[in-house]
Parts: sequence; structure tokens; C-alpha cells
Amino acid sequence: MVKRVLVKFSGEALAGKEGYGIDTKILNYIAGEIKELVDNGVEVGIVVGGGNIIRGVTAAADGIIKRTSGDYMGMLATVINGVAIQEALEHAGLEARLQSAIDMHEIGEAFIVRRARRHLEKGRVVIFAGGTGNPYFTTDTAATLRASEIEADLLIKATKVDGVYDKDPAKFDDAVKLEALTYDQALNDHIRVMDDTSIALAKENNLPIVVCNMFEKGNLLAIIKGDMSLCSIVK
Ligand code: UDP
Repeated sequence: MVKRVLVKFSGEALAGKEGYGIDTKILNYIAGEIKELVDNGVEVGIVVGGGNIIRGVTAAADGIIKRTSGDYMGMLATVINGVAIQEALEHAGLEARLQSAIDMHEIGEAFIVRRARRHLEKGRVVIFAGGTGNPYFTTDTAATLRASEIEADLLIKATKVDGVYDKDPAKFDDAVKLEALTYDQALNDHIRVMDDTSIALAKENNLPIVVCNMFEKGNLLAIIKGDMSLCSIVK
């Protein structure tokens, strides 16, 4: 069984129907799903995106805001989401620690991998906010990076879809779900599992990536126990 996992939640997932901001019902749901993992002895790290608040590329689209500044704004958005997730986890009775790639002592700890590992060993959930701390990256890449650093057995990308398809299932009725694919397939076929940087890093570190539907209750624990029916795996 998987001992240590990193779960990546997109910012958008937190927004709920509004498409913007943070829906506390979703936070509560996520905390419940994470609690199931912890209660089953799994060590959990979380990376959260910021797309529900701001994305660098969008912020910089008309050239008034520079891309690098837009990206820092996006990284700050992930910290806002990270604080929210920390609260929800504590509300659910879990111990949680927020670590930020950008120093913000009043809000969270600095990212220190050895410290993160120690928290995990003690059963605390560690939320890695601030992305990689660098512009031009995504939180998917941050998730692959942190998962590799903490030596997670698995990276779960929690999404709204139940896996990877050969084409967009929202547009094509005949889209076929791919149960398993290789890193090279994910890279070469430009299947939009994650950006190429994160896939390349996962390949280099032999980190399996599971793409799953987070809104299927109990799915995260099912995956940990080896039931991959509601997901796709890249390995
Ligand atoms: N970002 C960044 N470096 C990182 C991670 C994130 O610059 O290492 C910025 C980037 O502008 C990105 C934004 O933060 O658009 C929010 O992250 P992302 O778009 O990955 O969030 P998600 O799509 O998962 O909600």
C-alpha cells in the first residue's frame, strides 16, 4: 500500500459553481477525503493551485502587468488557498502545517524539506504553497517537485474528470479513456494530463501520476488501496 502521497488540487476545484473564490463546502469535502487517508495511516502532502483567484498568463495578457509579476500574483493566490485548506483540515480534526516557497513567516513556515518530512512522519498534513517559488512554472510542476522531494510513492492529480482521454470528452462522444499510459505517451501525444515540465520531472524520478475525479467520494482512499477504476495512471 502507498505510504506517502502528494495530492494536487487545482485552484479551480476550490471555487465550486461560482468559478471564482473559495467555496467552504468544497474545502470541507476535501478535508474529509484527506482525513480518510490520514486515518488509514497514509502520510499526506498537498499542493494547491491558484487559478480560482489569478493566473500569471491571464493577468499579463494585455501587457500592462509583466508576466513575472503576474506569476508572483498567482503564487500568492496559492498561499491564500493554502491557508484556507489548512483551516479546513484543522476543522476536520487533523494537524496541518502550511509551508510556503516564498517566505511569509507570519502565515506559514518556510519550505524546508527535512522539516516537511518530519511533519509527515508525525501524521501532520503538509500543505505546500507558493508553487515552486519561481515564475514560469505551474503548480503541477510544483506538485511533481514536492512529491519527488518528500519521496512520495504517488502523485494524485485531483480533478473534475475521471482520468485521461484520447481527446476532450466534453467535445467528443467517442473519446476513449486511457487506463494507463507511459510518460512518453503523455509527452508525445500532448495529452493534457499535466504540462510537459511536470511529466518530464516525474519521468526522471519514476513518480507515478494518478489523474482522478476528486468529487467521487472515497476515491482518494480507493486509489491508495489500489483501485484505479475511476482514474488513469501515468507511469
Ligand atoms: N505560478 C508560478 N510558479 C509556480 C507555480 C505557480 O509562477 O511554481 C503562478 C502562475 O502564474 C500560475 C499561478 O501561479 O498561473 C497559479 O497556479 P496554477 O495556474 O498552476 O493553478 P491551478 O491551475 O492549479 O489552479
